[in-house]
Amino acid sequence: MPELPEVEITARRLHAALRGAEVESALATGMVAVKSIDPPLGALGGRHIAGVRRIGKMPVVDFDAGSDDGSEPLALLVHLMSAGRFQTFEKRASLRDRTARVMLRLADGRELRLREFGTKQRAWVKLMPAREIERDEMVATLGPEAWPAPPLEELARRIDLPRHLHPMLRDQRVIAGIGRSWVDEVLWGAALSPFRQGSELEDDEVRRLHAALGVLGDAIEHYEAVVSDQVPNKLPMPLRVHRREGEPCPRCGATLAAVHFAEHVTCYCPEEQTGGRVLKDRRLSRLLK
Ligand SMILES: [Zn+2]
Repeated sequence: MPELPEVEITARRLHAALRGAEVESALATGMVAVKSIDPPLGALGGRHIAGVRRIGKMPVVDFDAGSDDGSEPLALLVHLMSAGRFQTFEKRASLRDRTARVMLRLADGRELRLREFGTKQRAWVKLMPAREIERDEMVATLGPEAWPAPPLEELARRIDLPRHLHPMLRDQRVIAGIGRSWVDEVLWGAALSPFRQGSELEDDEVRRLHAALGVLGDAIEHYEAVVSDQVPNKLPMPLRVHRREGEPCPRCGATLAAVHFAEHVTCYCPEEQTGGRVLKDRRLSRLLK
């Protein structure tokens, strides 16, 4: 599942590869993949890509104003959901390619493709005038970006809620960019229990949480060093705690524990995060949903 560091490196690589490229045509194979109606995807034909960036966990492609009619710049907001990938290919996808959702065919023969793995079709795009993107409901409701970390005081204010840290930090309205993988790393970095409530935190604990957000920047630096021009389907994530249940804690050596859910797993160090308690109780695990 791509989160802030993965989408950031994706946007950087796409930006370098696509800036200035001309779109020949745009099409979507699934009706559900395009969540906007006006302007139609076809309005991208003949436009040049001004750049690729990221807002929260969403890539955004910016397009120059239309060269013929002087129509305004457009922006394509992309939501990868859990299994989407946004990649450039030298060759165009076959229309039988079941992973392809949205294809932007470029005049130079390449193709920018939104793909999705698995059976569910959940990834989507919205095309809109660039000036409207800040007002889009998915963007306007976002909390501050988790990286670079917001000022300490702003983070303290945002998380001062009677909610458990694990789901709250994954709530994009509270803070943008963190999902099920990186939340474990952030909480482990801060040595805080996923069950702690935001409003219960001492000043020192908020400071630790703030500092722990730096792991996102570390991950981006790691990707800068190891990811080539083409971001692979499976990006090896530099995770130290997430999905490492049963392994020794890289900091204290205690055995890492996990709470399992239908769709995700939460990993933590019992020694440093939960006062030695191993959280097995399903009622407790329900609190984390
Ligand atoms: Zn530990």
